[in-house]
Amino acid sequence: MKKKTIVIIGAGIAGIAAAIRLKSKGNDVTVYEANAYPGGKLTAFSEQGYRFDMGPSLFTMPQFVEQLFEAANQPIANYFEYKKKATVCNYFYEDGTTFSAVADEVEFAKNAAHTFNVEETDILNYFKRSKKKYDLTASLFLEKSLHKTATYLNADTLKAIFNVNSLDIDTTLSAYNSKVFKDERLVQFYNRFATYNGSSPYQTPGIMSMIPHLEQYFGTYFPKGGMHSITMSLFQLAKDIGVDFQLNTKVDEIITEGKKAVGIKLANQMVSADIVVSNSDVVPTYRQLLKKHKAPEKILQQPRSSSALIFYWGITKTFPQLDLHNIFFSEDYKTEFDFIFNKKDVHSDPTVYVNISSKDEPNDAPKGCENWFTMVNVPSNTGQDWDEIINQTRQNIIKKLSRLLGEDISKLIEFESILDPRSIESKTQSYQGALYGASSNNKYAAFLRHPNFKSSIANLYFCGGSVHPGGGIPLCLLSGKIVADLIES
Ligand code: FAD
Repeated sequence: MKKKTIVIIGAGIAGIAAAIRLKSKGNDVTVYEANAYPGGKLTAFSEQGYRFDMGPSLFTMPQFVEQLFEAANQPIANYFEYKKKATVCNYFYEDGTTFSAVADEVEFAKNAAHTFNVEETDILNYFKRSKKKYDLTASLFLEKSLHKTATYLNADTLKAIFNVNSLDIDTTLSAYNSKVFKDERLVQFYNRFATYNGSSPYQTPGIMSMIPHLEQYFGTYFPKGGMHSITMSLFQLAKDIGVDFQLNTKVDEIITEGKKAVGIKLANQMVSADIVVSNSDVVPTYRQLLKKHKAPEKILQQPRSSSALIFYWGITKTFPQLDLHNIFFSEDYKTEFDFIFNKKDVHSDPTVYVNISSKDEPNDAPKGCENWFTMVNVPSNTGQDWDEIINQTRQNIIKKLSRLLGEDISKLIEFESILDPRSIESKTQSYQGALYGASSNNKYAAFLRHPNFKSSIANLYFCGGSVHPGGGIPLCLLSGKIVADLIES
């Protein structure tokens, strides 16, 4: 490939991944990032002796991180270490049931049969069907552009089409789970995987039941130094192979001439480029950077995925019954959190997440203390009264955790910081503070996401959670690969 000058707008995880791949192929690559730090949502902060990963806490499919070191021909061990978790997550139900989801599938099924009204074989069959859905669709929906004819002209696609009935796209995830399991607690357990892409189990199609397979089969991991070390190790790798990062540098416009992108405009400077890649959310990319071009309104107006309200708490006690990941279900979420949701918003997620990285990284909290990342999913920001929602949610979470842990949590909070949809949007430009771009509630969502390129503007590409194949660290890393492959071809 002839060496090209490439600019990337945004140092989110997808922008960094695209930069590493494009630089590894011999191009000149510069990444312009509005913030003073790389990583976008995958960042961290430290205060009063506590360190918190601000955004993602669950690390799955580390092979996509590994592949970046392979692409750059650098030994990963010099940069990044991670370990597999034996326990994926501890679950707490309002009726007193507790369930520890272990990584080993057979042991998981045994424990589930012991805890819930279910046979081991029902659980193992569920995982088998999840695996089949993933195997049939991954190469079509995740690893290639869905908007190139060549993607459809291969054996994998034909196989998926012939097996379309086993994908459960005509039922919702919740209806599918309710059909398989009689025990409501298990339905709740399997419904929660809808939140992995910010959708609702009552709307997203049954094909999303493939997500538990990703967690169970590929495993869950924790990086040494916390989630933020994913960003920092890839940032360091990119710099070491010669990617230029311009932090504190907001891009104001994508410059086009005729029907092609030719560069970008900064506050006081024009930068010309052969290729422009936007890792900014697709909505601000059109509304702010491509004002002179007609925006694809249908795509931009799709409902957004859920956002999050997070309380970062420094807790002056340790809880042996908690692990790195903990989930507290509600018997009926409506009694606790329905004030957050409009009637038509069915991002119903009846869970409170408590992630405690100091369980794996003791230096993340002072001795005898823990760093709690306490989160509830909320709808994206459409002008709700967030201050009121924060107040009430805080009270309800404290009540709930105090009830289930048998301890007045409010007395243990010595540090608090809060992130809500408004601050997620202002820190990362993500439209309405959505965590995963457009929601996946529609069964055609995969086809409705913005492509990784634009047919009407040559040399312009898109990566990140708001475009194909979607949000979450693994998919964002894949979008970086798809963009690099498209540019190369
Ligand atoms: P983003 O992180 O959205 O970053 C985009 C970057 O572009 C930003 O740094 C922004 O400043 C920059 N930018 C935008 N416009 C401009 C411009 N004009 N000029 C210069 N720079 C610009 N994923 C998981 O896999 N597991 C999880 O457990 C998980 N939990 C999450 C919890 C929370 C609270 C949040 C917020 C997210 C979570 N996610 C999780 C989702 C995951 O964080 C995102 O999907 C992913 O990090 C998005 O990466 P991205 O490449 O799209 O860029």
